[in-house]
Amino acid sequence: MSSHLIIISVSFAIIKYLVIPLQDSIWNPLIKQIVPHFLLDLGYDVESDHTLTIMMISAILGYVVMSGLCSCLDLFSPHHWKTQGARSYMDFGTWLKVVAISLSNMFFCSWFILLPVWYIHKHGIFRGGSPLTTFTEPIDPLRCILNMIAHSVIIDIWFYTTHRILHWGIFYKHIHKMHHLFKAPTAVACMFAHPIEFCLGNVCGVILGPALTNAHPYECAFWMAFSLASTSGAHSGYPAFGAQRYVFRSHSLLSCRCSCLVCLAILLSFS
Ligand SMILES: [Zn+2]
Repeated sequence: MSSHLIIISVSFAIIKYLVIPLQDSIWNPLIKQIVPHFLLDLGYDVESDHTLTIMMISAILGYVVMSGLCSCLDLFSPHHWKTQGARSYMDFGTWLKVVAISLSNMFFCSWFILLPVWYIHKHGIFRGGSPLTTFTEPIDPLRCILNMIAHSVIIDIWFYTTHRILHWGIFYKHIHKMHHLFKAPTAVACMFAHPIEFCLGNVCGVILGPALTNAHPYECAFWMAFSLASTSGAHSGYPAFGAQRYVFRSHSLLSCRCSCLVCLAILLSFS
C-alpha cells in the first residue's frame, strides 16, 4: 500500500504542477506544432481534442518522471535497495537503447491503437453515444471512485489475458521474448517491448477504461500518469515503488481498489 501512496503522490504532482498549469501555454501549442496534420483525417483534431492531448502528455510525463527518478537512484543508491541487488543495473549504452525504443513505441507506434480507441471514446461507442465529458464539468467524487475501480478492473483483466496469450510459444518467440530480454529490469525498460505487444497488451488496456467510463479529462490525465508511473515503479527493482509486486500482473485488484480511495481525495482538489 505504501508503494501505491508514493506512486499516487508522484502522479498527483505531475498532474497538478506539470500538466494542468502548462496545458494552455505549452502542451496544446506544442502538440499543434509537432503532430502531423494527416492525423486530423484519422480522427485526432489537435484544435479541439484536448482530452486526448492531456492524456498523452500525462502518460509521457508519468514515464519520464518516474523512470528518470529511478535512473537517478540507480546511479547513487546502494545496490541492496533493489530486489535483485547488483544484477538489476544496465550500462549507459543499453540504457540509451532501452529509452530510445520505449519512446519510439510511445511517439510512433502508439497511434495505431490510440486513434481507434479515441474514436470510441470521443463518439461514445459502447456507451450509447453519450457526449464526451468536458473540462468545464465538475468532478463528481463518487463517479470518480467508480471510474477508477472500473479502469483498474479493466486493465487487470486486459493485461492478464494478453500477457497469458503472449506467453504461448509462437507469440512468445516472435513478440514477448523481447520484453523479457532483461532478467532484472530497470524502470526505463517498462515500455521496452515489441510494438504489437506495446499497442495491444499495454496501451489498449490503459486507454480502454476511460473510453468506456467517459471519465472527466483530469481523471483521464491522472489515470494515464498513474498507469505509467506505476509500471515504471513495478519494473524499477525498488520495493518502495512496488517492484516486488511485479510477478505476472502489474498490480492487484485489491491494492488498486485501495488506491482509488486515495485517488478520491487527490482528485477532489482539482475541482
Ligand atoms: Zn511475460
